[in-house]
Amino acid sequence: MKIEVQREAMRAEGAVLFPDDQLRLVRFTCCGNFGIEEVEDKRVFYDPGKLKSFARKGEEVPCQICGADRWEWEPVEEFDPEELRPSWARLISYEPEPEPEPEQGG
Ligand SMILES: [Zn+2]
Repeated sequence: MKIEVQREAMRAEGAVLFPDDQLRLVRFTCCGNFGIEEVEDKRVFYDPGKLKSFARKGEEVPCQICGADRWEWEPVEEFDPEELRPSWARLISYEPEPEPEPEQGG
């Protein structure tokens, strides 16, 4: 699945971004909610309605969504579009892979 974060849409919602920022869709391992990570700076935006707010990886803060003590996230490569709330969906674009490529670990 091809997933692209729409940086202009994020900016329009108040996110502070720099031209070199690498953005990707992530999912929190505690509660399964989505977020957008800025990879270089290890920032994660967790609320599509409050893009001025973010957390940094390694900060000892509980998940701002579910309150879990350990807050971690991992990149999303595949998701069911029905799972993505409209408030997130307008910040990313996605399309299914044109042809299925079998991926092997390693
Ligand atoms: Zn959580």
